[in-house]
Amino acid sequence: MSHLFPRHTKANLPTAVGGDGCYLIDSTGKRYFDGSGGAAVSCLGHSDAAVIAAVQQQVGQLAFAHTGFMTSEPAEALADLLIANAPGDLDRVYFVSGGSEATEAAIKLARQYFLEKGEPERRHLIARRQSYHGNTLGALAAGGNAWRRQQFDPLLIGVSHIAPCYEYVDRAQGESSFDYGQRAANELEAEILRLGPETVMAFMAEPVVGATSGAVPAVEGYFKRIREICDKYGVLLILDEVMCGMGRTGHLFACDADGVAPDILCIAKGLGAGYQPIGAMLCSRQIYETIEGGSGFFQHGHTYIGHPVATAAGLAVVSQMLERDLVARCAAMGDRLQSALQERFGQHPNIGDIRGRGLFRGIELVRDRDSKTPFDPSLGLAAKIKKAAFEAGLICYPMSGTRDGRNGDHILLAPPFIISEDQIAEVVDKLDVAITQSLPQG
Ligand code: PMP
Repeated sequence: MSHLFPRHTKANLPTAVGGDGCYLIDSTGKRYFDGSGGAAVSCLGHSDAAVIAAVQQQVGQLAFAHTGFMTSEPAEALADLLIANAPGDLDRVYFVSGGSEATEAAIKLARQYFLEKGEPERRHLIARRQSYHGNTLGALAAGGNAWRRQQFDPLLIGVSHIAPCYEYVDRAQGESSFDYGQRAANELEAEILRLGPETVMAFMAEPVVGATSGAVPAVEGYFKRIREICDKYGVLLILDEVMCGMGRTGHLFACDADGVAPDILCIAKGLGAGYQPIGAMLCSRQIYETIEGGSGFFQHGHTYIGHPVATAAGLAVVSQMLERDLVARCAAMGDRLQSALQERFGQHPNIGDIRGRGLFRGIELVRDRDSKTPFDPSLGLAAKIKKAAFEAGLICYPMSGTRDGRNGDHILLAPPFIISEDQIAEVVDKLDVAITQSLPQG
């Protein structure tokens, strides 16, 4: 009997007892290829010697010092390293324990910034449908996933949701990618004008949408237009790279590929690579200086911000990425994974789209390729594929029922950056078996 909440005993899950490179090992000795890095977490695999040594060293030297009293060397060093590599004029780092804490802090920072700037009427947040920004109440309100919000709606702050940039589904026939992206981005301007520009504080989006849609990047020009609109109306741009950041897309920060820099950037998952729970919110010099020159104090905080062991893990992870050029490796192996998926499934009658960037790839399953009609959600196709893949020894991350009112199933792949070519073949073979077993017959 397990006393863990919520469902581990009911689901009869195996017990993970070890990690070896890209594999997890259960208590029977069975090995599973971690094809999704958990949920895009384990970018260095499960047994990175340098990160393990850094965590062991730090916990032995200094386990904890509350940031209300003292700073610590790993927190300072990781902040310096992130800022040295961050886009735009991001200049300060606020360390938290995970993704939801990062997005929640971003929303509160945006609000406090405008209060200190003397624009207290700026309180509206705009985000996108089919997005996920976390599960705490502010982050959940920002997310546009109807299923996750449903039962908590009465508790959520009001957030406007515009359409995502989802070319496969929403680009009109005959419309160019670029024109589609401009049209989708212009929804932001329409919403700002509808709410009244002087009342809008921020727009929040994932550069490559993860958990709700399966690695959907924006088309070229979309985020540049979003940036222009934000600048025109003095609205802050918050990019949520909790899932797609930290090298995952083949760029250290996903927005680097879109040629834009946000005012606030949220990262997590790959930052600790699973070795420690850690996230961070980075903000621009202007935001920081406004608060520094005003109240001097961001009215927020958690016990474990800037945790020495967590930041030591983050420092080791980012150092490994830079020293071993793992982001470039992620880009190269990502191209190979895309080609292998394309070769195997490109003509498959039930696979409508294979997409993503770097080692962040999504496969969209459809009942009919021409009409892009999804499968009936009651089939639970994505969950069936997850189960069949797991039995075959492959962990992949399925999603179903997330298109705006038009349910679709996706599989997300986000393997560690150390994946080899043979392992790419293993992933594709096992996925093929799982998809074949799970599709409805006839
Ligand atoms: N934002 C995004 C884009 C995410 O993918 C997630 C987690 N899937 C979160 C926020 C929340 O992160 P956490 O689960 O660490 O709170």
